[in-house]
Amino acid sequence: MKIKKIPQRMCTGCLEMKPKKELIRVVKSKEGEVSVDLTGKKNGRGAYICKSVDCLQKAFKSKKLEKNLETSIDEKIYNTLKEQMKDE
Ligand SMILES: [Zn+2]
Repeated sequence: MKIKKIPQRMCTGCLEMKPKKELIRVVKSKEGEVSVDLTGKKNGRGAYICKSVDCLQKAFKSKKLEKNLETSIDEKIYNTLKEQMKDE
């Protein structure tokens, strides 16, 4: 029997490995523009975060998201993420 591999990514907040589907992707394009990628298909450098306000706060405080994407992240992005998390 084959074991199905589920792609896993590390959350920027809690640093746990989670199935990609359970995470939200933040992506930085070639042009350096940061956006929340809800389709998971945008090109660029990506960072992942759980759909949890706790993780978002952790990532915000530690500036891990900034470090991962090697850019500064607009408050707008954090607000967009927060809105996504409210729906869950
Ligand atoms: Zn997390």
